[in-house]
Amino acid sequence: MPLSFMRSNKPRLLNSLLSLLLVALTALTALYWQTRSDLRQQAHNAALDAVEQIDQVLEDSKEITMQATPLAGSACTTAARELRMLAASSPYIRAINLTRNGHLYCSSIFEEVDVPEHRDSYIGGQLRLLPSSPLGRHSQLFLYHLDLGGTGVQVAIDPYNLFRNLDWTLTGPQTLIEVGDRWIGTHGVIHLEPPPPLMGDNVQLDSTLYPYSVRFGFSQAQLHQYLLEQQRPALLLCLVLALMTGLSVYRWWWHISTPTQELRRALGNGEFIPYLQPIIDSQSKAIRGCEVLMRWQHRHQGLIRPDLFIPLAEESGLIVPMTRSLMQQVSQALAPKVHLLPPDFYFGFNICARHCQDLSLLDDCRAFLAAFKRRDLVLVLELTERELITPTLITEQLFGALHELGVKIALDDFGTGNSSLSYLQKFQIDLLKIDKSFVDMIGTDALSHHILDNTINLATRLGLDTVAEGVETQEQADFLRQRQVHFQQGYLYAKPQPQQQFLLQLSKPPPSAVAPDETELLTPSFD
Ligand code: C2E
Ligand code: CA
Ligand code: CA
Repeated sequence: MPLSFMRSNKPRLLNSLLSLLLVALTALTALYWQTRSDLRQQAHNAALDAVEQIDQVLEDSKEITMQATPLAGSACTTAARELRMLAASSPYIRAINLTRNGHLYCSSIFEEVDVPEHRDSYIGGQLRLLPSSPLGRHSQLFLYHLDLGGTGVQVAIDPYNLFRNLDWTLTGPQTLIEVGDRWIGTHGVIHLEPPPPLMGDNVQLDSTLYPYSVRFGFSQAQLHQYLLEQQRPALLLCLVLALMTGLSVYRWWWHISTPTQELRRALGNGEFIPYLQPIIDSQSKAIRGCEVLMRWQHRHQGLIRPDLFIPLAEESGLIVPMTRSLMQQVSQALAPKVHLLPPDFYFGFNICARHCQDLSLLDDCRAFLAAFKRRDLVLVLELTERELITPTLITEQLFGALHELGVKIALDDFGTGNSSLSYLQKFQIDLLKIDKSFVDMIGTDALSHHILDNTINLATRLGLDTVAEGVETQEQADFLRQRQVHFQQGYLYAKPQPQQQFLLQLSKPPPSAVAPDETELLTPSFD
């Protein structure tokens, strides 16, 4: 079925692009979170390693202070040599000093000294960061202090050495060791001001043995860099995946878009409108009724023929509200002009087989008839012979009620299907519409004539009213009149036209010329 008119290229492109972006965004977000959680895990592991290593250095320092304990309080001249030997036993230790009565009095480097020493300045009585040493030269120190009452032993660790020798497993993160409100940053530099807020993600880990903590972090820029460098294959894969999705949507758009949605939209937008085609009395040639034919006034494509969208409307079930809308539009436009309609005027609506399984049709018919304040008007439902109705309890109930309401049933496209006599009786058919293919045979060879005669004879023998469809020539019109076909419908008289034009024509005296355009009504009295 050619439904391409329902699908412009714009939504196709837009949806392809959107799905491309959606997949790219989803994949990139997943990759980003994965990378971030990887980095956090790495930072956590690195912090654990660092704490373990610093703890070890401090444990070694503690061990050395224990060894120096007997020297505490003794004269520096005797202690200094031993202190130097102890200091040489660890690569991290720069000096070992002795304290007494609040004074540092002996150093492994400077021997006898006298520097005031505040026990309170040690965090947890153990650790202290000194940005500048009172003993000069190598200014930065990380001190470990063992308090022995009036005396004590102090180990000065070189923060640069400590920092350099730590096995940082995470390359390029922001790292620092915090002791109280001071901290050692990159290259072992000691800072007095509070540590800078680490941007991005960071992990802080406290040592369980000593009063310090380690912070590991990475900035957004580092994260992006890591993503670009380490996840390049995954990034490329995301890109390819997104492109493939976009292309697939573009390629398969016709299969995955739903024309039903387009029908629903058009219905909501009032794009399905009725066109009316007059039905003529064969003998008097006056208008006796009209057939209501649906048109889709599409917002971009203009007027669309019903055979292009009716099958889909039937399939989707939307034909029910679409027909209801058609009935409402006809009653709204024609009820106020009911005086223009000839006596016993009939309205024919096309009804599909599926619609006959829906009892709401009865309410729609009742509402339609009630809108007109004239009892002589007739509502005819045209059921095509091409698609026979399956009798069910609902159809039985429906047709019984329709009959009681005075609604007549026409068998459309008569001669093209396989309806039996019992079918005509079961559905209480009142009218037969002889298909255009038979009317087209008029004036052709004798065999065709014979078939046509048989069809007309069958229709008249059944004692039902007959309408010939698709009458285009005067010869066809005359022939059908001679064969007692009651009504005629076709371009010879008028093409289907908008309601206002149909009304205008009814209110005018009959013109004599025949206009070829679909929108023009031809003469309502046709001689
Ligand atoms: P149909 O019920 O057999 O309607 C008659 C079709 O023949 C109409 O085509 C009409 O325009 C066309 N026709 C009338 N006189 C002539 C003529 O002299 N020459 C030619 N060549 N054609 C003529 P249309 O309007 O395109 O409708 C096609 C079919 O679509 C209808 O066939 C009907 O089966 C279906 N249809 C139309 N409106 C509705 C509707 O509201 N509901 C349902 N279920 N089906 C509809
Ligand atoms: Ca019809
Ligand atoms: Ca027909």
